[in-house]
Amino acid sequence: MSDSNAGWACRRCANAGPRLEWAPWPGTRGKVLQEAVCARCWDEWLGMQTKIINEYRLNVLDPGHSKALAEQMEVFLGLRAPESPA
Ligand SMILES: [Zn+2]
Repeated sequence: MSDSNAGWACRRCANAGPRLEWAPWPGTRGKVLQEAVCARCWDEWLGMQTKIINEYRLNVLDPGHSKALAEQMEVFLGLRAPESPA
């Protein structure tokens, strides 16, 4: 373990690791995710993501669907408060 992990805690489960070894999402969001959550929480999200895609029949190639999925992901991982109904 390197010193760069000192003091790090997952935003979701508060464990000190394991860290994600790569950004799990493209662009800035991926970097934020890698900094914020541990590999175990990311794995949990991947399981949840599959359920959500199946349940709501999401098409990840549809920009509206992939945006909704990204929002669900951020809520699940504790990076965003659930949106209050308008
Ligand atoms: Zn975690």
